[in-house]
Amino acid sequence: RPLLAVHDLHARIEADGAHKDILKGLSLEVPAGEVHAIMGPNGCGKSTLSNVLAGQPRYEVTSGQAALRGEDLLAMPPEERAAKGVFLAFQNPVELPGVNNATFLRTAVNAVRRARGEGELAPVAFLKAARAEMKALSFPEDMLKRAVNVGFSGGEKKRNDILQMKMLNPSLAILDEMDSGLDIDALRIVAQGVNALRGPGFSALIITHHQKLLDYIVPDRVHVMAGGRIIHSGGPEVSRQLEREGYSHFLEKHAEEQ
Ligand code: ADP
Ligand code: MG
Ligand code: MG
Repeated sequence: RPLLAVHDLHARIEADGAHKDILKGLSLEVPAGEVHAIMGPNGCGKSTLSNVLAGQPRYEVTSGQAALRGEDLLAMPPEERAAKGVFLAFQNPVELPGVNNATFLRTAVNAVRRARGEGELAPVAFLKAARAEMKALSFPEDMLKRAVNVGFSGGEKKRNDILQMKMLNPSLAILDEMDSGLDIDALRIVAQGVNALRGPGFSALIITHHQKLLDYIVPDRVHVMAGGRIIHSGGPEVSRQLEREGYSHFLEKHAEEQ
């Protein structure tokens, strides 16, 4: 049984008083311990898929299923999904003025620990763990004293996201275009964070436009997405083929098969 199984998923969003269908029969399986990449042109529905899996209420699932370890993911409220190990890093991390970064992180970590039946981390134990992770990320400790993401540079926001991910230790991390606008050092930091978690208890969906991130995080599988569906899946060579030939090759091949 795969960790994540998405079957024939259809989802839409309400925009300007009308429904817009975005996911149109998307199917995908991610076994435990595997890192999969999703690549696809702008507007094909990658962020919609991330949001639907994380339980963002703006999106309405009209049919299909998504299961986590065989359990109905779509029936769970977003907090329960997080407690069951789903972590979503957004393309544009949210800024929370007035919310202390350390408090925010510790609250998130302890909510997940409580839900897993683990004891809460006391402030001292939390700080110790956070400091160790921050050191590995070359992320200054002072960043814990700041408001969440407020005035953070692009690279600092990504480091903060990776810090959250490492502290939460998810079983399924969804990274939605986390590499957009990153310089090569920040890209390496993101990759190191993901690679450090790789193992039998960790799966990831890496959504990206670029081959570059996948040079550092070599995925087990690559899925090509277009028009709200997965149209092709293969090994890491698929991302390199996409880089060389663009999406049109896959789109044409898919159109012929229909
Ligand atoms: P991707 O992440 O692959 O670029 P998205 O999932 O963000 O694609 O968007 C898929 C389609 O849905 C696009 O045509 C986009 O304009 C539309 N869409 C997404 N979110 C909204 C929204 N909040 N309001 C209106 N349209 C949206
Ligand atoms: Mg986009
Ligand atoms: Mg997107």
